[in-house]
Amino acid sequence: MDRSSLVAAYRELIARGLSQGTAGNISVRLGRTMLITPSALPAARMRAADIAAMDIAGEGAWRGRAKPSSEWRIHRDIYRARPEIGAVVHAHPPYATALAMARRPIPPAHYMVALFGGDDVRCAPYATFGTAALSAVAVAALAERKACLLANHGCLALGQDLAEAMANALELETLSQQYLLSLAAGPVLLSKRELADALAAFGAYRGGGEPAASPVARGRKRRA
Ligand code: 13P
Ligand code: ZN
Repeated sequence: MDRSSLVAAYRELIARGLSQGTAGNISVRLGRTMLITPSALPAARMRAADIAAMDIAGEGAWRGRAKPSSEWRIHRDIYRARPEIGAVVHAHPPYATALAMARRPIPPAHYMVALFGGDDVRCAPYATFGTAALSAVAVAALAERKACLLANHGCLALGQDLAEAMANALELETLSQQYLLSLAAGPVLLSKRELADALAAFGAYRGGGEPAASPVARGRKRRA
């Protein structure tokens, strides 16, 4: 994992409309360290040398020329709490954020909810951006999940590597759009049993033993 892959991922986040301006941030775990995108720097101006390195056991001291993301605590605390996680994406995508603004978790209205590890995608309570309070509620909302919404703010997507975290961010936005549209007609929720079957079909996903690409690909086949 090199710093330019992180810059490329942040550019992709903006290019795909998953974040705007300087919103959102991305990190990867590198042993006892994490690499994280800089704070308040637009994608077009971001360079590999702007990616900061920070010790996961530390209290925010960083190495690099640019100040790390204001959400470094969320990234650090996720790596501390979740040894299977290797990459974290935070974004403000339109549909996921619209649900977060309404403080609505995503129920099992589609079996793809299971991709994120359980029978819902939780919405963490509101806390000011960049605070330890926001990190605490985010880590709690992510328990046994690879995604959550952040009330009146945005969302988080996790993966065992950068490719999975980015894929999960995109899947969460698709699911959010579908759920929001379905609310106009009144979605019918899947039963616990039906969701359990979908979870089982996603195989080793929960333990982080498989990249998102395979369960997503399987999911697409099932849908066809
Ligand atoms: P940074 O530019 O500091 O990463 O902050 C963006 C953001 O989304 C804050 O929640
Ligand atoms: Zn944010």
